[in-house]
Amino acid sequence: MGPGPSVAHPRALRAQAAPLVGHLSNVMLQQMDEIKQGLQYLFQTASPYVCLLSGTGHGGMEACLVNLLERGERVVIAQNGIWGERAADMAERLQLEPVVLRTGKDDEGGSAFPVDTLIAAVRQHKPSALFVVVGESSTGAHQSLGGGRLGQACRDAGALLIVDTVASLGGVPFLADAWGVDACYSGSQKVLSGPPGAAPLCLSERAWSKIQARTTKIASFNWDLPMIGRYWQWQPGAPRVYHHTGAVSTYFALRECLAVVGEEGLEAMWKRHSDAAAMLWRGLAELGLEPYVADPQYRLVTVNTIRVPDGADWAALVGHCLKEYDLEIAGGLGPSAGRVWRVGLMGYSCTRANVALVLEAFRTGLEAQGWTKKK
Ligand SMILES: *Cc1c(COP(=O)(O)O)cnc(C)c1O
Repeated sequence: MGPGPSVAHPRALRAQAAPLVGHLSNVMLQQMDEIKQGLQYLFQTASPYVCLLSGTGHGGMEACLVNLLERGERVVIAQNGIWGERAADMAERLQLEPVVLRTGKDDEGGSAFPVDTLIAAVRQHKPSALFVVVGESSTGAHQSLGGGRLGQACRDAGALLIVDTVASLGGVPFLADAWGVDACYSGSQKVLSGPPGAAPLCLSERAWSKIQARTTKIASFNWDLPMIGRYWQWQPGAPRVYHHTGAVSTYFALRECLAVVGEEGLEAMWKRHSDAAAMLWRGLAELGLEPYVADPQYRLVTVNTIRVPDGADWAALVGHCLKEYDLEIAGGLGPSAGRVWRVGLMGYSCTRANVALVLEAFRTGLEAQGWTKKK
């Protein structure tokens, strides 16, 4: 019940245990085709440019930046936690021109950007791309895309919209096509409840055209999306070309995770996650605990950040959960380090029973520390 990896779905683990097959075998290619269908549903896109990268969420981030942008191009990075920091770090390494936006003066995070602020920044800086994080898992903030308003503004300004959905995809509404998203990526070990090592990725037609129009070579062989697209057969009927050995077992597992998503249905999944978060916050409020993200509209349901109150020992509570309940929760990360506990509600582990267990562990853990809410 931390911010990831989440508990893997047993079906994913069983699929992963199947014997290996060749990375270009018919069995593998059929799995990859089915994975593409599952990804189109998951991202809510009709784009043919979907695949799993053989890597983790960071691979998705790096693949988007290295393919969509060329040296010297400007990218506006909406930074409200560690993931924006990392995107800015990558942008520097790639010799892009990052323009970093921040939510507040104190750099504590715990908020997201009003959509109008992002739109104004795109108009002001005229970047080649805007990078945002839907689920800032380090601070528990949920970034809205304004239901397509941000995507439209990017389009009007000639900027691509790059979206990190690693900690959120499957748990909160996300419509890649309808919202005008040009590139987005996720991770396998969070809401999808798979093993780490396969990063779902999706590009729009506009993003694909931008890659085609590059005048310089893509700086990374590993994340060269046109080459990866030949392995995943993005052009119908084109021959499959070996680029790297796909992560066979992890793809098997993800094929199963995507089937599980399809069986439950996205709307039902979104509701299950928001219902669980509501139950969690009702119980936490009874214990006298408060959310780190003050404004309810910016609260992420998949990673919940709970402010560590004065007089409480966050590390002792994390230890108590593990020792007494076999329950993993996390402390803060980056800007929220030492300030919060993070409780993940993701995929297979997002159940009422698990929420009840977390609440019980918090209650007894705080009691053991002698912490009580000041009246
Ligand atoms: C976990 C996470 C990542 C990085 O994913 P890895 O699989 O650890 O590489 C990126 N962005 C967000 C929002 C995340 O929560």
